[in-house]
Amino acid sequence: MAVFEPFDRNLARCGLNLVRGKTLALQINVGYLCDLRCRHCHLEAGPERREVMTGETMNDLIDYASRVYFETIDITGGAPELVPGIRSFLARLAPLTRRLILRTNLVALREEAASGLMESCREMGVALVASFPSINSAQADALRGNGIWGKSLDVMRDLNQLGYGRPGSGLTLDLVVNPAGAFLPGNQDQAERRFKQSLERHGTLFNNLYSFANAPLGRYRTWLEQSGNLDHYFKTLFECFNPATIEGLMCRSLISVSWDGTLYDCDFNIAAGLPHGAAKVHVSSMTGFPEEGAVIATGDHCYACTAGAGFT
Ligand code: SF4
Repeated sequence: MAVFEPFDRNLARCGLNLVRGKTLALQINVGYLCDLRCRHCHLEAGPERREVMTGETMNDLIDYASRVYFETIDITGGAPELVPGIRSFLARLAPLTRRLILRTNLVALREEAASGLMESCREMGVALVASFPSINSAQADALRGNGIWGKSLDVMRDLNQLGYGRPGSGLTLDLVVNPAGAFLPGNQDQAERRFKQSLERHGTLFNNLYSFANAPLGRYRTWLEQSGNLDHYFKTLFECFNPATIEGLMCRSLISVSWDGTLYDCDFNIAAGLPHGAAKVHVSSMTGFPEEGAVIATGDHCYACTAGAGFT
């Protein structure tokens, strides 16, 4: 017997529609190349991946962001730091938006390919959002690789030296944490207090912490299957379904573009292979915002966004 109801059927039973609102943010996934191979990565990024955004697609994105004003442009990967041309891509995007975000796993900023990128980000006022799996060093290393926890703290200290995470600097360093196992995140405010106390003892500072459930996709899904936790995890997500999260879901106000220029309603849908709209749309053909009221492509992984406090 199925342990949960399919997501779209559950929405219909609750009388809910998941449709796009006004689009405020452009999220750009520049590829799956990464220096790490984290256990919970929904895109299965890693050093062996060759899917990275070309200069031509970057130009298409610049053209789109010039035609259409997005309040936020959010660059993610993989490790965006390692993608050839990333620094000039950021420099060309910065004047086109109010808030430019670069997602980082921290340690990639120390790779040779990213030399000087931290300083460039400071000069451009780029906000950094860093994944940081745990304040427990053994747990973090189990998820990311030996020695990564200590190296991450070293990079945080470098960033703090540049002003990131320091009160009044205007340079934001936020952390994102996902649960280490097959369970939902606890209270975000309490987690932030705990992380601040712990990381300050290690001489590091950050601004805000966001804790989100893991999407059951990619490498995290494989781990759930291999550890016998898949049914239990879906059952937990289903039982914690919170209809109040629908209104604020990120897919209502964000459009995501994959490394090859295809549009998706969110980064999880890139991993799930569910493009935005009925047919694949390339960013170069977009003349405006995605249409308000358009239906969002969903799958059962959407339960990760709608459980408990939700993923907004
Ligand atoms: S995975 Fe989350 S953000 Fe993406 S479409 Fe589903 S509910 Fe929306």
